[in-house]
Amino acid sequence: MLLLRAVLGNICSRVSRVPLGVPISRFSAAAIPAPNPKADVHFNQIFINNEWQDAVSKKTFPTVNPSTGEVICQVAEGDKVDVDRAVKAAQEAFKLGSPWRRMDASHRGVLLNRLADLIQRDRAYLATLETLDNGKPYAVSYAVDLDLVIKCLRYYAGWADKYHGKNIPIDGDYFSYTRHEPVGVCGQIIPWNFPLLMLAWKFGPALATGNVIVMKVAEQTPLTALYIASLVKEAGFPPGVVNIVPGLGPTAGAAIAAHMDVDKVAFTGSTEVGRFIQQAAGKSNLKKVTLELGGKSPNIILSDSDLDWAVEQSHFALFFNQGQCCCAGSRTYVQEDIYKEFVERSVQRAKTRVVGDPFDFKTEQGPQVDEAQFKKIMGYIKTGRQEGAKLLCGGSAAADRGYFIQPTVFGDVTDNMTIAREEIFGPVMQILKFKSIEEVIERANNSMYGLAASVFTKDLDKANYVSQALRAGTVWINCYDVLGAQAPFGGYKASGTGREGGEYALQAYTEVKTVTMKVPQKNS
Ligand code: NAP
Ligand code: MG
Repeated sequence: MLLLRAVLGNICSRVSRVPLGVPISRFSAAAIPAPNPKADVHFNQIFINNEWQDAVSKKTFPTVNPSTGEVICQVAEGDKVDVDRAVKAAQEAFKLGSPWRRMDASHRGVLLNRLADLIQRDRAYLATLETLDNGKPYAVSYAVDLDLVIKCLRYYAGWADKYHGKNIPIDGDYFSYTRHEPVGVCGQIIPWNFPLLMLAWKFGPALATGNVIVMKVAEQTPLTALYIASLVKEAGFPPGVVNIVPGLGPTAGAAIAAHMDVDKVAFTGSTEVGRFIQQAAGKSNLKKVTLELGGKSPNIILSDSDLDWAVEQSHFALFFNQGQCCCAGSRTYVQEDIYKEFVERSVQRAKTRVVGDPFDFKTEQGPQVDEAQFKKIMGYIKTGRQEGAKLLCGGSAAADRGYFIQPTVFGDVTDNMTIAREEIFGPVMQILKFKSIEEVIERANNSMYGLAASVFTKDLDKANYVSQALRAGTVWINCYDVLGAQAPFGGYKASGTGREGGEYALQAYTEVKTVTMKVPQKNS
């Protein structure tokens, strides 16, 4: 995701804050259309069989604009009965001989590309809605999130007729081959930090390989997924292929995880809920499970690194998306001889971070997603102080309404502190000091998590040595958050199971069938 860096560089340059070394973006400021924060919300119901419906219970829940704390609109609150309906529709769409099952693989690719075209057509509206519901800066929604969403769908559109089995040289007079077949009904439960992008990561590989979907979107951010549902219909996907049930985790989410007719569940969110999903799968039909969970990713700065670049990238690694990234570089390990200078420059950078109205192009940081997250983060800041970490800047709310938090930096953090062990998921940076490479590798790996890691150095041998020693699903060298649809993403240890992205994600959405046939040895 060079583009992400490029785009952010561009956004930043508009507020005279150019991260050093950032390439010039293809997106000029003028290319990002002005948002319309007063745009109407068109869809707030459950989407089953390409139709809109209320929850059977008629219940609704409010979705809130985190910049103001005001309710945007009510949304249908699906629960177990609605999930049952969605699963039935999905099963029907997946029946042998159905239009979806009979569709050419290449045509599934055409539909995915069409969906990407429609998202491109409505890109400014979708970016506006994402910002309204989630709080992330509009320029980022438009130039980063939507860009990645469209590219992800197009990437998997290309795979639709290219992920196939093999011819097997089995012993004897037999012809043996494998087929890659869809798993079936896929339950997909997504979080609120990248609502559209997480949808795309899950739709892309599932639809390219011919599965059907029942998705539960996060209660904080249901709106963009519901708009995408309308585009799914417009693109021409047959009824029942994609079903979206907004609702709450313990009801709608749990119903998907425990459902006897759901063949696979893909979940992104907290490690705590991930454990629950895996248990529910085990207790029900042993459905396949992929999990993309939390992290406490080490970002290691060696003393020979390019300091300006390392400071800017470490700032980005932690503060991007209001600190609400599963792979945030949230343990910044700095070698002792540059520690003092690195800390000073990082504090300086955090103090100049622009926090405010996410529809303002100057804004780098919007509000946290909701009041619960705001309070949780403020609690961690308090714990950090109580346990003896040095608060170097920030530490308070950044506005008197909405869920804004000042960019916060802690120095003198030690490995045993709560803020060095637990996922804060907010704009709070922890800087830790280390002496030797062996020491930092051991400390970096001493975590229940293993989602991502990074190392900054000019020495190739050190970069290779450290990157191979780190137990994490992604290791960045001299960069951070470079993610693309082509590359797999996922975690070691408690950070998850399986991989999303790239060819690897296709494995998680297919069953391999071996077909073996007797070959006659004589022409009769
Ligand atoms: P969460 O509870 O794990 O939410 C993620 C998704 O799971 C949401 O759609 C949620 O529904 C659903 N869910 C919740 N309980 C469920 C259950 N019992 N069964 C099935 N699905 C369930 O995360 P959160 O509470 O929003 O955030 C808490 C923490 O999770 C954050 O502070 C952060 O540390 C971590 N998190 C990680 C990621 C990531 O990308 N890995 C993303 C978000 C949060 P509701 O919307 O109704 O809760
Ligand atoms: Mg919201």
